[in-house]
Amino acid sequence: MPAYLDNNATTRPDPAVVDAVLEALRDQWHNPSSVHRPGQAARHRVELARESVARLLGADPAELVFTSGATESIDLAIRGVLAAAPATRRTIITTPIEHEAVRDLAASLAAEGVTVRALPLLEGGVVDADALDALLDPSVALVSVQWANNETGAIQPVERLARTCRERGVCFHTDATQWVGKMPTDVRAAGVDLLSFSAHKLHGPKGAGALYIRRGVRLRPSLRGTQERERRGGTENVPGIIGMGVASELAMAWLARSDERDRLALLRDRLEHAVLEAVPNARINGPRGANTRLWNTTNIAFPTLEAEALLLLLSERGVCASAGAACSSGSLDPSPVLLAMGVPPALAHGSVRFSLSRHTTEDEIDEAARQVAACVRRLAASGV
Ligand code: PLP
Repeated sequence: MPAYLDNNATTRPDPAVVDAVLEALRDQWHNPSSVHRPGQAARHRVELARESVARLLGADPAELVFTSGATESIDLAIRGVLAAAPATRRTIITTPIEHEAVRDLAASLAAEGVTVRALPLLEGGVVDADALDALLDPSVALVSVQWANNETGAIQPVERLARTCRERGVCFHTDATQWVGKMPTDVRAAGVDLLSFSAHKLHGPKGAGALYIRRGVRLRPSLRGTQERERRGGTENVPGIIGMGVASELAMAWLARSDERDRLALLRDRLEHAVLEAVPNARINGPRGANTRLWNTTNIAFPTLEAEALLLLLSERGVCASAGAACSSGSLDPSPVLLAMGVPPALAHGSVRFSLSRHTTEDEIDEAARQVAACVRRLAASGV
């Protein structure tokens, strides 16, 4: 039986999302900027979706900009704040464990003359929030720290970081792509200024995402146009946005049942225990304390193994997992995120991420545990 444990790469769209997207493609194909009646009907559906996404975040609908996904939201947030900041503010602060959407952007900004400072990490890949204050000075335009890590599930101290930024008058952005939909989110309580995420990580469609921009935050967009209150030009992806709205409603209903998160965390723990029992020299990458990791993620290092070899064998047996970020699978380079966390290169080479969704079953977990044990035995016997 197949086991899909690669939900941090993408999730299966919920059937209700598929229906809504198909219906929108068929019936709401008019341009939401058109003044005629069907155009305005499409506009109405886009605005209803905006209200749903806003409720999921505890935001005001006017504070949301629809984008093509987290990568674009991140670009709009970071470049947009820098572009609107005074010329004296040309520094950003981020971490070495961000998704490459942030890391690569920071590298190109550095090449363009922006100063990039890195927050230090504590044991297990959690950002040292105490270190932020000393890194802030009048040259800093923005701090960007992910809410949860896509490779290890490590939860970052976003509220504390946001508070420090607020006290020092610096803008705070969080890449919440792995957080939203899995954990309750309240942008006001968290005190963040900007938040990015993608619909496809919460059972929505690909190519749809949003950026939350707290009212009052100054940002200069790069895509010009009248859409999205002139903050993101281009005709809206109406089916994607409608699908994102449905996915947000479903996520809210699921998040209201906190016992479900506990149940799934136990399933994740069950997988870890079974693997560690079968492969005694394996170990978990990431923080170990209570509530320090997302309920859905485990990253397991198999010393002496190549993650790619294990992933291919698992895939032949119907188990889908991944090595670090999906986009870097197929490359033999160890994950820069694990290396930055202090995982030795040999262990990083043999590290595999298993990520659950709210639909993951006990049978999938048990099947994955069985297959991991069998594949590791086989690879060990063949000396790979
Ligand atoms: N940020 C994080 C933490 C992610 O996990 C991902 C996707 O894996 C992204 C950003 C980029 O999302 P997208 O490819 O939908 O733009």
